[in-house]
Amino acid sequence: MLGLEDKVVLVTGGNHGIGAAIVEVLEDFGAKVAYNYRSEPGPRGSLAVKVDVTDEAGMAEFAERTERELGPIYGVVPNAGIIKDNLIIKMPAEDWHAVLEVNLTGAYYTIKPVLPKMYERQEGSIVFISSLGGQRGNIGQANYSAAKAGLIALAQTLALEAARYGVRSNVVAPGYTETDIVKGIPEKVQEVLIKQIPMRRFAQPKEMAWVVAFLLSPIASSYITGQVIPVNGGQYF
Ligand code: NDP
Repeated sequence: MLGLEDKVVLVTGGNHGIGAAIVEVLEDFGAKVAYNYRSEPGPRGSLAVKVDVTDEAGMAEFAERTERELGPIYGVVPNAGIIKDNLIIKMPAEDWHAVLEVNLTGAYYTIKPVLPKMYERQEGSIVFISSLGGQRGNIGQANYSAAKAGLIALAQTLALEAARYGVRSNVVAPGYTETDIVKGIPEKVQEVLIKQIPMRRFAQPKEMAWVVAFLLSPIASSYITGQVIPVNGGQYF
């Protein structure tokens, strides 16, 4: 229906949370999905590989293996992310570096080995997972917000460089989504956060995955590139 049947898509952090929902929805649309993880594999996907996104050589091997076992990669979804929250004045430098390394540099390591082949084939779609924090900043999340804003600039630059090769690059910017990250927030704080959301609820992971599928689609979003789609219940636009 979306033209994703038998397309090979590589997702990072596909074992749980938003990443697992992306793997599930893409498979339901007929795609062959490879994903990586750090801890334990998830329930779906055609290929699951344990490799850290901060391992440049490992990510190149993961891309090669995906092409060898599943076929030419059509789509990439850099989704893996971590938080290490603190006010700027209290943030240890190691937490700054760790979040930038996983959330931003990890995305660069993910797309770099795949792009030359996409350019040759004149076909491909990349969808980065940013955040509300990357659009407007967030108290206690300087490292995370800086990394997520960096992803938007990376995606827009890639859109400009890749357009002539038939490759598109877009961003989904989720608001608060009910995964382990949000479930870990104390209930009282959750209540305060929900009051800030016009739709008065957190998102479900699949509500991000549908938008990812749309932006990957060679049919439904064929003329969309360099865009940021906020999926945040009206919290910020
Ligand atoms: P989870 O913590 O549930 O999942 C994070 C995923 O990233 C896991 O699959 C994890 O693998 C993987 N991961 C983390 N670090 C690495 C690493 N170094 N190498 C490989 N994989 C790694 O988070 P969410 O599903 O909530 O978040 C997914 C994305 O969505 C993130 O980029 C996050 O920033 C973004 N986002 C989430 C929001 C939310 O409210 N939940 C809001 C806005 C954006 P493993 O489990 O094996 O460690």
